[in-house]
Amino acid sequence: MATHREVGVGDFVLLDKIDLDHFMKNLEMRFRNGYIYTYIGEVCVSVNPYRMMNIYDKDHVHQYKDRELFENPPHIFAIADASHKVMRQQRRDTCIVISGESGSGKTEASKIIMKYIAEVTNQGGRSEIERVKNVLIQSNDVLEAFGNAKTNRNDNSSRFGKYMDIHFDFKGDPIGGHINKYLLEKSRVIYQQEGERNFHCFYQLLMGSPDELLKRLSLTRSPDNYFFVKQGRSANVDSVNDRMDFKKVENSLKSLQFSKEEIDSLWRVVGAIMHLGNVEFSTDEDKVVIPDSRLMNTIANLLKVTREELTEALCERVIAAHGDVMRKEHTKTEALYGRDALAKAIYDRLFTWIVDRINSAIAVTDTGYNKKYDSSLIGVLDIYGFEIFDNNSFEQFCINYCNEKLQQLFIELVLKQEQEEYTREGIEWQNIEFFNNKIICDLVEAPHKGIIAILDEACLNVGKVTDEMLLEAMDEKLKGHKHYTSRQLKSTDKDLRHKVDFKITHYAGNVVYYINGFMDKNKDSLFQDFKRLLYKSSDANISKMWPEGAQHITEVTKRPLTAGTLFKNSMSELVKNLQNKEPHYVRCIKPNEIKSPSNFDFERVKHQVSYLGLVENVRVRRAGFAYRQRYDRFLKRYKMISPSTWPSFRNGSDRDGTKQIMDEYRFADDVKYGHKKIFIRSPKTLFALENKRNER
Ligand code: ADP
Ligand code: MG
Repeated sequence: MATHREVGVGDFVLLDKIDLDHFMKNLEMRFRNGYIYTYIGEVCVSVNPYRMMNIYDKDHVHQYKDRELFENPPHIFAIADASHKVMRQQRRDTCIVISGESGSGKTEASKIIMKYIAEVTNQGGRSEIERVKNVLIQSNDVLEAFGNAKTNRNDNSSRFGKYMDIHFDFKGDPIGGHINKYLLEKSRVIYQQEGERNFHCFYQLLMGSPDELLKRLSLTRSPDNYFFVKQGRSANVDSVNDRMDFKKVENSLKSLQFSKEEIDSLWRVVGAIMHLGNVEFSTDEDKVVIPDSRLMNTIANLLKVTREELTEALCERVIAAHGDVMRKEHTKTEALYGRDALAKAIYDRLFTWIVDRINSAIAVTDTGYNKKYDSSLIGVLDIYGFEIFDNNSFEQFCINYCNEKLQQLFIELVLKQEQEEYTREGIEWQNIEFFNNKIICDLVEAPHKGIIAILDEACLNVGKVTDEMLLEAMDEKLKGHKHYTSRQLKSTDKDLRHKVDFKITHYAGNVVYYINGFMDKNKDSLFQDFKRLLYKSSDANISKMWPEGAQHITEVTKRPLTAGTLFKNSMSELVKNLQNKEPHYVRCIKPNEIKSPSNFDFERVKHQVSYLGLVENVRVRRAGFAYRQRYDRFLKRYKMISPSTWPSFRNGSDRDGTKQIMDEYRFADDVKYGHKKIFIRSPKTLFALENKRNER
């Protein structure tokens, strides 16, 4: 069994001993030998190889198509195939949940899955299906251009969450889809940490657009000329080719049926944002003014609004008090704040508009057809991974909360599935202990006493509530919570550097959040003046992005939901949605921090394996039984090892045949017979069976 040693075991369930040490040894050995995928039952553990692997070509597609998991070496293709098969054969909705920290390979995994599905479908070569497939794949280029950025963790980091439904017809061919996006990290539009970039599209436009377009946008090629894109001081990224990407994005936009005018609006908005970042304010007799009127002209032209109104909206606001409408001049701070809020909002609306446009291009058109087969889709979830930066703000708080929710779902589904299987098969169930992170989800989302609720309350009195007061309110309600602490509660905690830091012990580790900016980002307010301004834009596409600008100033508006609450609601919807589908899991692991194909940072990996609960996953999976298989499939694989079942078993059911083999080899003590499946306790038995097979 020499080959066995080199590749380790392809399923952690087959380890001799289930503990972190053995798990890690197997994972490392496989990674070092070029095996990046390993199963835990039907869960696929994937280690980012940081190099091109020759395992995604047509031959591999062929090898995995319509096969069972155990028939081939572990591969993400097998997960995609299993998901597609369940959907096709049982007409059940399935989903593939891809999780792991930033840079662990989630987005690549989602693309590989899409590619596989595209390869194995439309054998009939129908042109409409071909179009849908292309559109689904090309939507990625556009979404990545506008939603991804270089961070210090990942050169192509997704800064939004993505959930994509792919709809299939009764033949299993894709007929359309729908994308849900979650919280775009829009603060990046105005600020980037050292070493990071703004969203890719800005650099693509500067480096890749034809001279003519650049001129029309009054831009120069150098990112250094624009405050909003130069702060991270790393405009050039080795692994990114902005010039080529610009062309790719332009092509994709066309395939996605964006009209010429729409593409034009899109780049004008991107250009306007860069110019906006260079707007400076000065004071003239206590009045805020913008000295550079040419710049204002440029921006107004790009957004197709008047220069006067744009300037006004940046320097003052209109307020309604007791039925009267008055103008109030901004202070310089307010003006700067307004400028930044405007830039963020314009970008956010643009992104939403892009996603909506893509959705209309991939919408399932024939509704009658769709209704008839509506329960046949595969959802692919690729959402930002757990994240710890030097400075963690509201965005990291949301991202990490999202990961808590997904971990919670994983715990529930994996446990539930196991439990259900044992019950269904009439096998006794044994509970496995592991950390349930529900307590952390509650810490964030519980009504009244969760962090989001406390934050919302503070936002009702924004301006009056200071960061210190907010933290006090949190301390008051959360003190004693095992997963929460703050500087005020524990001044000796060295992690807590600022006075207004608080710390959450997440399932994936401790994260210190700097509360400064939380209220502002949560409230996420934008002066009404901007909304009215952009609604009045003579560019129909831009105007469409600002429907609420139609409201008159005196119309009472309901207090909008906060960013935190909106995010919480969207997470709860997402979880509900995933719960109703048969889940498949890909757990991504980042082997090192230096993007190296040969470095296996043992401690870093061990940490991920621990918090992802992978060892517990193996234990649960094995809860007494290392292996389970339907009788028909079991027989198909092992009938060759007994003369009484070869070439076929004639003396009874598949169950009887299975029993025949197990009795013959004296494995009876190690086996339980469920209604439809055989359950084998020890992996040794399975090895023995496999050996017998190999001997034949
Ligand atoms: P995440 O979405 O988890 O943040 P990505 O999927 O963007 O991470 O992966 C980060 C980088 O790692 C990719 O840009 C790519 O260079 C590399 N990578 C990830 N998965 C693979 C893979 N299967 N094969 C080759 N390279 C990969
Ligand atoms: Mg990603």
